[in-house]
Amino acid sequence: MSYLVDKEGYYGEFGGAYIPEILHKCVEELQDNYLKVLQSESFQQEFDQLLRDYVGRPSPLYLAHRLSEKYGCRIYLKREDLNHTGAHKINNTIGQILLARRMGKQRIIAETGAGQHGVATATVCALMGMECVVYMGKTDVERQHINVEKMKMLGATVVPVTSGNMTLKDATNEAIRDWCCHPADTYYIIGSTVGPHPYPDMVARLQSVIGQEIKKQLLEKEGRDTPDYLIACVGGGSNAAGTIYHYVDNPNVQIVLAEAGGKGIDTGMTAATIALGKMGIIHGARTYVIQNEDGQIEEPYSISAGLDYPGIGPFHAHLAKQKRAMVLAVNDDEAIRAAYELTRLEGIIPALESAHALGALGKIAFKPTDMVVLTVSGRGDKDIETYLKNYEL
Ligand SMILES: *Cc1c(COP(=O)(O)O)cnc(C)c1O
Repeated sequence: MSYLVDKEGYYGEFGGAYIPEILHKCVEELQDNYLKVLQSESFQQEFDQLLRDYVGRPSPLYLAHRLSEKYGCRIYLKREDLNHTGAHKINNTIGQILLARRMGKQRIIAETGAGQHGVATATVCALMGMECVVYMGKTDVERQHINVEKMKMLGATVVPVTSGNMTLKDATNEAIRDWCCHPADTYYIIGSTVGPHPYPDMVARLQSVIGQEIKKQLLEKEGRDTPDYLIACVGGGSNAAGTIYHYVDNPNVQIVLAEAGGKGIDTGMTAATIALGKMGIIHGARTYVIQNEDGQIEEPYSISAGLDYPGIGPFHAHLAKQKRAMVLAVNDDEAIRAAYELTRLEGIIPALESAHALGALGKIAFKPTDMVVLTVSGRGDKDIETYLKNYEL
């Protein structure tokens, strides 16, 4: 049995494509084409070359000596923070824009919450000389000023969305509406392993370069390509999916996913979707969703803007349900402490999202012989103010 997607676009009972009638043709076009394109030699060549020369891959796999000593095992950090634009998201946007070009699309749209995916999308649109429209909730536009300015500098049009709570969910609805109006010439770049099939599988495949490199690097450094643990944070799930993709069917590798506990999973201020979510439909997929008794999607909360998504990718929902992955909720204060710890022990300031993965280390009983690979999904430059404000936590 495989944990990966089936022919109908499902991971067990999760996934599928729940979309308006008007999008059927264009989602079907994508379903029919994505594997053919991703597996073609010309795509692979261009993708590999850009990942190498533009993104700076392979990202290092670094044995963190002092952190290892602290937790009594061997901890390797997969350094996605060293990528161009500062996180793993660029792996996906490069892959999808190459696909869009091969499908003859001229216009790119995207949704963004914190602005990280918006910046990664605007970056590749500048690189390819393509028109770029990014939908962003008005609340987020105000909160994430620098990313808005970056997108504008890169030539993108940022559309502030004023419906609902004016955050990510509303931006997503608006992007889907745009797509419905321009299905023929527009390609929608989704930023995580979410959305209707084939997006979760496509994004996982594009990010799987992370795990592919881990295999090669571990073999060189340790003489074996399988670690005992793989640890990553999950918002929608893309950096985690890329980390575990090539290991998921190997039962010797323990998978640990860290979701955002916010102020605590019992406080109502949380983004711990796997702990609290009930089955629902979000962003065109069937998965766990944080919702109230009437099935209304609740506004999630996390100190980390990249993790406060009210859903979770169907791949991860399935891994959790099957108990293939251990899912831990890491709270704001635990993430902040973990970020300071990494900074002071290793001289690496992680993104707040990645700090949730680091916060999971203290919740696991390691053996001295355990080999652990933890993905540092991004760098902390964007989070410095939050770190300083919360130093006492
Ligand atoms: C967006 C983001 C995340 C969360 O997204 P996933 O799809 O779950 O990986 C994690 N880390 C960083 C640095 C991000 O920018």
